[in-house]
Amino acid sequence: MNNTTRREFLQIIGTAAAGAVLAPSVFSQRRARTCVIVGSGLAGLSAALRLKSKGWNVTVLEARSRIGGRVFSHVMPNSDGLICELGAEWVGESHERIIELCKEFNIPLQKHQFEDHLLRNGKHSRPGAWDLSPQAKAAFEKMIAGYEKLTAAQKRRLDSKDWWTHLADIGFTRDDLLLRDLADSTDFGESIRHVSAYSALAEYAESSPKNEMDYKMTGGNSRLVDEFVRRIGAENIRTGMKVSEINQRAGIVTVKAGDESFRADACICTAPIASLRKIKFNPPMPAVQRDAAEKLTYARIIKNSVLYENRFWKDDDFSMVTDTTSHYYFHSTQKQAGTMGILTAYAIGEKADVLASQDDARRMNVITRDLVDFDPNAPRLAKGIASYAWQRDEYTEGAYALYRPGQWFGIRPILQRPHGKVLFAGEHLADWQGFMEGAINTGEDAADSLIK
Ligand SMILES: Cc1cc2nc3c(=O)[nH]c(=O)nc-3n(C[C@H](O)[C@H](O)[C@H](O)COP(=O)(O)OP(=O)(O)OC[C@H]3O[C@@H](n4cnc5c(N)ncnc54)[C@H](O)[C@@H]3O)c2cc1C
Repeated sequence: MNNTTRREFLQIIGTAAAGAVLAPSVFSQRRARTCVIVGSGLAGLSAALRLKSKGWNVTVLEARSRIGGRVFSHVMPNSDGLICELGAEWVGESHERIIELCKEFNIPLQKHQFEDHLLRNGKHSRPGAWDLSPQAKAAFEKMIAGYEKLTAAQKRRLDSKDWWTHLADIGFTRDDLLLRDLADSTDFGESIRHVSAYSALAEYAESSPKNEMDYKMTGGNSRLVDEFVRRIGAENIRTGMKVSEINQRAGIVTVKAGDESFRADACICTAPIASLRKIKFNPPMPAVQRDAAEKLTYARIIKNSVLYENRFWKDDDFSMVTDTTSHYYFHSTQKQAGTMGILTAYAIGEKADVLASQDDARRMNVITRDLVDFDPNAPRLAKGIASYAWQRDEYTEGAYALYRPGQWFGIRPILQRPHGKVLFAGEHLADWQGFMEGAINTGEDAADSLIK
């Protein structure tokens, strides 16, 4: 998102990291410096690769049995190899670093577009046949145009209220608000009544018009993870290693995972906040940082990818915002050859909890029945389902961080602060918060501040 905050993040981690690494001494010249990285998501992997390329010895400790964290491509069984994403999905036009990495790693990005249909109260409207009121559209455009000129005080005022209230204040009617809530809540994972107006505005003002759904990685996002692993060296990444303690004494960091301890000159911790809260720090983190960690929650999102016998939605760029439990449908197998196809239902907030509480058969029933006003054949064409409820994930307890009113400027800068020789990174601390780009930015920034 915004450059000023990225600079601030670099300043925050840079200042503390100056004391966090070994001063250039005879000792540090004699041996390679070492870093333990907690977490093998994109933040951890990008930090590890950056450090390794500068001669550091790195050890990545990952609690799960798989590498990649919230990047999680899935090959659908009985589908002739169709792929869907159960975690991160799209790459945006403004996501410069990830675009650069895909080029370097030889992962073709394919152009990607959606045209949103709307299904509301059983009535289906095609793309272009539904919209906000002209008054709301004009107010929105004016607000976006004014974004660059906002003062620090104005940004803080915006952060103090929620996105719904702010849109009402600039002239959205009730119907505009309800429509915008259906659409925008897919971005934040909860109703816009719970989202900081500043964090929402910054995201929309800095995004490309298609809201950062401009590209997809051919063959799935896990290809990016695989290439990181190849370059870092699989022998430097340990899975099934849940970090429980991070101790610092006499200039050395000792990270405990299971029965093993890993000593290093520094540590980059990319654990999402729910996991971070469970790690014991010695010396303890300052009270203000612990309090901030207790306040940050993550969005409830369940992804339900349903395999259908044919692509009855017809348009390759099909997506549909709905007022049903299934919430938002999109075509996951765009540009993948085949007659079968996958339509993913992306449900948020309470709707995500309702679907998460059901078994696969019941969930598939709800998701396909929610489509009958669009196509009555949908339920009988369904052949299988793959679901992932991120709010039930042990390590994230949600899909991505949700900055509530007052939290963007209230707790984010506190969470970014290093603790001695432990630096923090991850999607939740990024300007491109909620995106792969943000995770990579923070991982590389943390590594750079150690290298300096
Ligand atoms: C449903 C969904 C949709 C998304 N859509 C998009 C999208 O379209 N585009 C986009 O760019 N981004 C999207 N994202 C966001 C993107 O996935 C994340 O921003 C990014 O992958 C986060 O990377 P990370 O390294 O910060 O965290 P993670 O990927 O969560 O990595 C952290 C790692 O730390 C590990 N860990 C946690 N605790 C411990 C511990 N105690 N010890 C050891 N390891 C530990 C975890 O297992 C995990 O592997 C989406 C995410 C979700 C869930």
